[in-house]
Amino acid sequence: MYTFKRYGDYGGGYIPESLYTPVTELIDLWKEVKKSKAFWEEYIKILTTYVGRPTPLTEAKRLSHFLGGARVFLKREDLLHTGAHKINNTIGQCLLAKLLKKTRVIAETGAGQHGLATATACAYLGLDCEIYMGAQDVKRQEPNVKKIKLLGAKVRSVNAGSSTLKEAVNEAMRDWSKNYDHTHYCIGSALGPDPYPEMVAHFHTVIGEETKEQANEIFGKNPDKIIACIGGGSNAIGIFRPFIEDEEVELIGVEAGGKSLKSGEHAARFYAKKKGVLHGFYSYLLQDDNGQIANTHSISAGLDYPAVGPEHADLFDKKRVKYVSASDEKVLYAFSMLTKLEGIIPALESAHALAYLFEERQNFKPSENIVVNLSGRGDKDLPELFMTNKELFEDVDE
Ligand SMILES: *Cc1c(COP(=O)(O)O)cnc(C)c1O
Repeated sequence: MYTFKRYGDYGGGYIPESLYTPVTELIDLWKEVKKSKAFWEEYIKILTTYVGRPTPLTEAKRLSHFLGGARVFLKREDLLHTGAHKINNTIGQCLLAKLLKKTRVIAETGAGQHGLATATACAYLGLDCEIYMGAQDVKRQEPNVKKIKLLGAKVRSVNAGSSTLKEAVNEAMRDWSKNYDHTHYCIGSALGPDPYPEMVAHFHTVIGEETKEQANEIFGKNPDKIIACIGGGSNAIGIFRPFIEDEEVELIGVEAGGKSLKSGEHAARFYAKKKGVLHGFYSYLLQDDNGQIANTHSISAGLDYPAVGPEHADLFDKKRVKYVSASDEKVLYAFSMLTKLEGIIPALESAHALAYLFEERQNFKPSENIVVNLSGRGDKDLPELFMTNKELFEDVDE
């Protein structure tokens, strides 16, 4: 019998019988791989020679000046191959798929970043690849859909419910239960049944380890604050983990505040504070009064998901991480300010973390060092933004 790992009350393995075999097979493999020197050497080699690690910790001088005090640094995951942190995880999981002798990898994707990172890792490692994506997201994330196809992967458009990420995960799980003899399911965030939350967090911990080293080189100690956006929570847990025991470091996670904090208009799971089971794990989960999964909304497809990774649920209960939300409007402001002040176009997801800086600027001390995890670049968002917010693209002096 397996005991599925929990973080406090959260996590576990709430799976149908049809997934018992592939999930437990993965649990067994993960236990072995964690101890395998050869596996981690190969993983790190690919990260350094192909993915582009380590990423710099860039001092944002003009932004710091504008905010009026603290020194702000950006952890540049936007500079990675395929434009976001996601590839740290897909390289790791595709290596695991090969160890399991699987020839096919499936994945779900919202913003398309995880689909793109999976299709890329599959092309690099010689695996067949199929990506499930909500029909609504296929439309709003067109550049990534085109890239995924170009890389030789199939895109399966899912027409059900709100036709976004949740439905794509449902379909991927159905596929996996039928095809696990030759298929690995590469989940894109630190969630799902055990061992995924642990595995995905582990693959991203490199972000926090580098940050710790770089902070100590640049300013000789740990940062005072670290800010990251929270979709499922993988980029955040990756940068937070090496600092969790360092009590002096304030950790802040920013969820999607959407259009408003009315049910159905946001994805702020820690604001609504309801709990339940979805996609194999127990955590904070947005629901209506009848316990049905609530609709979610965010300007960024990558944060548009009703549940949050179980380790974050535990960190919330323990009050080790402060969770807040940022509205679409504040996110757009932060997006455009970073672009003009630093010459960096951030992903709309990452702009949630930046929004916290503008919101809290009065409360920062000049002596503070603040790190923001810039989880990805904004190229993927531009066609959609051009349709919805044309004013951003007009000459400033007109
Ligand atoms: C997918 C994505 C996110 C959200 O996912 P997490 O698992 O919460 O990190 C954030 N930023 C970018 C750029 C993404 O592509």
